[in-house]
Amino acid sequence: MNSDAKVYKNYINGEWVESVSGETYENRNPADKRELIGLFQKSDSRDVDAAITAAAEAYDEWRLTPAPKRGEILFKAAQLLKDRKEEIARDMTREMGKILKETRGDTQEAIDMGFYMAGEGRRMFGETVPSEMHNKFQMSIRQPMGVIGMITPWNFPIAIPSWKIFPALVCGNTVVIKPATYTPLSVLHFMEIFEESGIPKGVVNMVTGSGGAVGDPLMRDKRIKLVSFTGSSEVGRLVSEACAPDFRHCMLEMGGKNGQLVMDDADLDLALEGALWGAFGTTGQRCTATSRIIVHKDVIEEFTERFVERAKKIKIGNGLDESVEMGPAVSESQMNTVLNYIEIGKKEGARLLCGGERLTGGDYDYGWFTQPTVFGDVKEDMRIFQEEIFGSVVSIASCDSLEDGINKLNNVPYGLSASIYSKNVNRAFRAMRDVYTGIFYINAPTIGAEISLPFGGTKITGNGHREAGKQALEVFSEWKAVYIDFSGVLQRAQIDNAE
Ligand code: NAD
Repeated sequence: MNSDAKVYKNYINGEWVESVSGETYENRNPADKRELIGLFQKSDSRDVDAAITAAAEAYDEWRLTPAPKRGEILFKAAQLLKDRKEEIARDMTREMGKILKETRGDTQEAIDMGFYMAGEGRRMFGETVPSEMHNKFQMSIRQPMGVIGMITPWNFPIAIPSWKIFPALVCGNTVVIKPATYTPLSVLHFMEIFEESGIPKGVVNMVTGSGGAVGDPLMRDKRIKLVSFTGSSEVGRLVSEACAPDFRHCMLEMGGKNGQLVMDDADLDLALEGALWGAFGTTGQRCTATSRIIVHKDVIEEFTERFVERAKKIKIGNGLDESVEMGPAVSESQMNTVLNYIEIGKKEGARLLCGGERLTGGDYDYGWFTQPTVFGDVKEDMRIFQEEIFGSVVSIASCDSLEDGINKLNNVPYGLSASIYSKNVNRAFRAMRDVYTGIFYINAPTIGAEISLPFGGTKITGNGHREAGKQALEVFSEWKAVYIDFSGVLQRAQIDNAE
């Protein structure tokens, strides 16, 4: 049945290779399961071992390549991404489902990150600090770590890999990446681009397959100095436990339960547009998606009525159609998770205001489409208020005051993103100070981060690290403090020289 299907291979040591088992798996379009995107390698620990070996062998040459030269290769890769942006975006829509505008944006983020990190090749600043002693100089420099293992999710198929690969490479590390099982083609294109950019063999490697068969051996291998993971908090915990016994580093970027607070003095038109985009953009499958809207009691009725009216009109379909506003869930199981949460919400006593069903009939029968779904009267102790759903479902809850609104924003286990709509600058600044998240917006939705600032969250969203911005360098390098004594005599630092 698959005799005509295109077969895609792993990228190991600068070569396109089949998995050792010779097995493959199907990748299908979630908007139309009749379309087979291709067959991808169903790899296992033997392929992971080959990729880590290649990355380890390539490490010395790469770490000793001057950082500005590494940056030049990254610059070329970013330029090639730019040249191939449309093709990459189209393939991403086919394999992941989100609409073309968004897959172009996803690719653009990778381009931006490439140019940003290429520039770091000529910066990567350390410090010089005055010494306590005569004739002594001291400075801090960054050193690379070795082979980095990367495990990425499907919702930003090339942006998230780029947030990891570009900073890791500019710092002088080599890389083995396992893309999400649903979105290997986007990372495969990324590998083609690195190959074309002239990066030495073994510096970047990709092994496709499942979390258990590929991700697990990758994160457990002791040659991996850092596991950079983005995905669910459940799998993030496994990564953390796998690294802990050997004190190997891990960087974890995980789930969110992001809230938008709408105050009684807000520009309601603006708040409405922001909430619609934040809740249903990428079919709600963003880690920063707005899944709770907390509205002041004096405006909740008007806001809810207008929000529901607009949500019902969202055009849903295949993301390759430029007029479509929302694509499918990424997979049948993701769609079922969403439908299950809708049942939970109903049972908990929340009021279903619109949506709630899978879309069927005609072409919808071939994809994993759900209606934009809005719940009202949602209370803080309900599961749909507390748990990440990752789909086209949003909960509306009311608040009595700014303090009540801030408490509700904070009262979830996650801490990724939040926003406030208010025309009162004092209220906006108090919320900015008191909401405990990694990202905060004023008069803008909970989505829309730019690559030049740190990205990540508090509480069970992360483990203290940040991606993007100059903070990414903190993750992918280790500091070395260097002291140079040019006095010609043994001098003792103050701690050893106390009177
Ligand atoms: P997931 O945790 O199921 O999978 C993430 C990756 O881990 C995939 O590549 C998967 O194959 C792999 N994996 C699964 N089980 C594994 C195991 N036992 N061992 C090793 N690897 C394993 O997440 P997902 O469904 O791909 O993505 C959605 C999640 O990602 C959501 O929770 C979302 O909030 C989160 N996310 C977070 C951010 C962020 O920056 N904070 C960004 C995007 C997505």
